[in-house]
Amino acid sequence: MNLKEILGFIIGTVVALLLVFKVKPKQGNNVLPHPKEPVDYTRNMDNTSIHGIIVKWFIDWNVTDTNYWIDEVDIKLDVSMQYPAWSSAESRVIGIRPEHCTPGVIAHEAAHVSYGLLNIEEKMQFSSLYFSLKNSGIVAEVLKQHPYAKSNDVEAHADIYRYASMSMPDVLKRFYPKLIKEDL
Ligand SMILES: [Zn+2]
Repeated sequence: MNLKEILGFIIGTVVALLLVFKVKPKQGNNVLPHPKEPVDYTRNMDNTSIHGIIVKWFIDWNVTDTNYWIDEVDIKLDVSMQYPAWSSAESRVIGIRPEHCTPGVIAHEAAHVSYGLLNIEEKMQFSSLYFSLKNSGIVAEVLKQHPYAKSNDVEAHADIYRYASMSMPDVLKRFYPKLIKEDL
């Protein structure tokens, strides 16, 4: 290589690096850390252990108050319902069909239980913040990739946690008691 070629190579590399750094942070903001997991039709009540899946949820979603979910909430496999999963915030029960039992589905239902711990004012605050955030950034990406989240504010609350978890906007984190550290 002569000097001109070396210089050309260096300039080319610098431009490429600049492009990478210019583009990357913007993309990085909107990448959902937890893509939807596939349904596993080979699973049933006998061959599925929910405990390992709960632990994977604790770790991958960085769950703050794991004792709460172990001691206060009954998270169980359940085939009595047609739905993939259901939850009751009042009685703190989450039921999930074995073939749908993944950390992400647990995360969604757990968010419903967490939402049930908010008072009416907090729920209203969440709704107005969500309204202001839904057309941009990672919240818009959740809605785009998972249109079910648009059903209502409660489903949006659950799917923002399921798919974005810690990458959600900081202002929303306090609306996830027992899931995300509350002093953030
Ligand atoms: Zn739901």
